[in-house]
Amino acid sequence: MNGERGSDSRRRYIYKSTAMKKYGLTSNQVEEAIRRGLITDFKYVANPHYLSAPQALLISEEELLGKLEEIKKLPRYSEAEREKRRAYRAKRKMLEIASFECPLCSMKTMPLKGSLTRKALYQGQLTPEEARIVAVVTHFRHAHTEYDHARQNLERLASFLRPEEGEMLLQALNRYLRLKRRRGRRAREEREFLLEDFRWLRAKALEKAKRAYTKEAIEKAKRYGLLPQDLTLEQYERIVEKIIEED
Ligand SMILES: [Zn+2]
Repeated sequence: MNGERGSDSRRRYIYKSTAMKKYGLTSNQVEEAIRRGLITDFKYVANPHYLSAPQALLISEEELLGKLEEIKKLPRYSEAEREKRRAYRAKRKMLEIASFECPLCSMKTMPLKGSLTRKALYQGQLTPEEARIVAVVTHFRHAHTEYDHARQNLERLASFLRPEEGEMLLQALNRYLRLKRRRGRRAREEREFLLEDFRWLRAKALEKAKRAYTKEAIEKAKRYGLLPQDLTLEQYERIVEKIIEED
């Protein structure tokens, strides 16, 4: 007899999450029902799944059913939840404006999660329209110009420098390799200078190549109506300066 009554009394209570699923309620409605005294028969127990989690709420199903229509009229979300949802929707809206689908390759891009662009967008350093411009130009530079190819090709890179610097860049590695066979302090020093020259010239060439391909990307994207027609390279660079650029 006692055992039966025990299981009966256990059956009288249901978890808040069960109540929500079974009766189409929200967490706020259940909590609010308790705050307003519509549900008086409830108890908190240790979470059955995780000991470290907050206590689980059990409520009397019978009492809940008796007040169900009233409870369903309670606000579905608390003010804090509504604020959170508003902020979330505002962020989605910003991302939507900042996204685009490329008419050339159908690729969809948007500021990636965790990217500096998305951070700048959320923090208000960039407008969604500016973030979209960055997304368009970056995509065009990588996908629809020779930029990625040129980055890997020393001769192409050299062509962006003044002729004598370009020549130095191309020769630096060969001279370095020749010197590698020689021993002694002088050879070592010369090698270090050469490497330094090489790195410096390569960085300079990369920067010039990036500017040139960015300009090409801007003009190309304009032809597809993806950018303001009067956008200049300089204006674009000022937008990019607002984020620390990643590549
Ligand atoms: Zn594309």
